[in-house]
Amino acid sequence: MSPNALTATTWYEQTGIAPPETAALADLSPAYDTVIIGGGLAGLSLLWRLAEAGVSAALLEAGQVAGGASGRNGGFCSAGWAAGDDQLERLVGEDKATVLDDIASGGLAWMRERMGRKGYEAAAPKDGILTVSLSGRPPADVDPASRLLTGAELKAETTSPRYRYGLHSDAGFQFHPLNFMRALACDALGAGQAIVENVTAERIDRRGSGFAIITDRKTIQADRVVVATGGYGGRETGRLARLLLPIRTYIGVTDPMPDVLDEHIPTRFGVGDTRRAGNYYRRLPDGRLLWGLGITAFGTLEIGAVRRMVAKDIGKIYPAMAGDMKKARIGIDTAWAGNMGYARHFMPYVGEIEPGLFTMAGFGGHGMNTAPAAAIAMSKALSGEPEALAPFTAIPKQATFGPLGLVAAEASYRWRQMNDRLAEALT
Ligand SMILES: Cc1cc2nc3c(=O)[nH]c(=O)nc-3n(C[C@H](O)[C@H](O)[C@H](O)COP(=O)(O)OP(=O)(O)OC[C@H]3O[C@@H](n4cnc5c(N)ncnc54)[C@H](O)[C@@H]3O)c2cc1C
Repeated sequence: MSPNALTATTWYEQTGIAPPETAALADLSPAYDTVIIGGGLAGLSLLWRLAEAGVSAALLEAGQVAGGASGRNGGFCSAGWAAGDDQLERLVGEDKATVLDDIASGGLAWMRERMGRKGYEAAAPKDGILTVSLSGRPPADVDPASRLLTGAELKAETTSPRYRYGLHSDAGFQFHPLNFMRALACDALGAGQAIVENVTAERIDRRGSGFAIITDRKTIQADRVVVATGGYGGRETGRLARLLLPIRTYIGVTDPMPDVLDEHIPTRFGVGDTRRAGNYYRRLPDGRLLWGLGITAFGTLEIGAVRRMVAKDIGKIYPAMAGDMKKARIGIDTAWAGNMGYARHFMPYVGEIEPGLFTMAGFGGHGMNTAPAAAIAMSKALSGEPEALAPFTAIPKQATFGPLGLVAAEASYRWRQMNDRLAEALT
């Protein structure tokens, strides 16, 4: 049996810049103003923002910097939250949804701005996302920032016979997420913040007016703790563990096939579809195709199963291309999985869960703008502007009910898939 996809080496690691040189646990001071647990985009962007605000902080990461979802995702960065617009409005009301949408757009702008800085060249951002629909009619009103593509214009980007129309926008972009995170970690280290890898926070105990973070080798004292453990946290995250479900999702990358892509998917945009349980894909700089899809709430597929699932899905959307790939013996070269933290309402928990203990997790499948957006608010709150977190207080805390919640998540995914198929057949 091939190894578990959750620990599989990714294309990003194969093509990544050198990892940052982080500190040894023994070199950490015994006490910090703020300790962040989790070295994904949420934790790293907060660490950097705190450095800018003059707050000294240490970050503890159980594995490698960006070894969780942040360094192994699709590499799409766009506006919005994992919860769709309607879902968000139903949850918090129209006015608060508008405020939260502006916050999410601030995260996108922050990413774009950083990406343009020296040291981030290997993040290689490329503008343009094409959202395609497999059902329905082209909308009559199109946001002026988007371009509606139908007929020959759509075919010039993608030859899939399944798509009815597409909407192209340059607001979002694609990039190499691992390289971005490594550059961001270097910036934070350069600014004097501490990062320690391969250390798991096993417990967070209240001690005096602050906290003791207990690891297997050392206890660190902190006035404030921020838990940014995404879909990888466990019982040590306390109440957060009862509010988030770890949901796995999958990516496969083909062997190089630039000529095949020129013929079947000429677009240089990142492509995603509008289905509730859809897929997304993009051409990589070395002529490979990155294809993301699927979720499982239980267990993790092994690498071979992910490869088969990706090949099958490509065949459904691009039957002619799948035929050409088969003839040329082009396969799925690398495949992997990652965990996302999901709340029942698809919105993250960003705020003070008890005095001095903060959470910043649950960005679901849309974290590349929302995690830094949350970090911007959190860094303000931790440097004297507690009201910066106010917009997040409207998000209700909903228990996930552990294994029962996982059953519900899996069932809901199947239900969405079935509805997608119905929508395609009926419209
Ligand atoms: C396959 C995949 C594709 C995706 N595609 C996209 C996309 O294209 N665009 C997009 O916007 N979003 C995408 N997402 C979602 C996005 O990657 C996440 O929302 C985002 O990375 C979450 O960031 P984070 O910092 O909260 O979590 P993570 O990046 O998962 O970081 C959490 C970290 O906490 C560490 N940790 C956990 N517990 C402890 C502990 N006790 N002690 C110390 N460290 C601990 C973990 O090791 C991990 O490194 C995708 C996700 C996956 C899995």
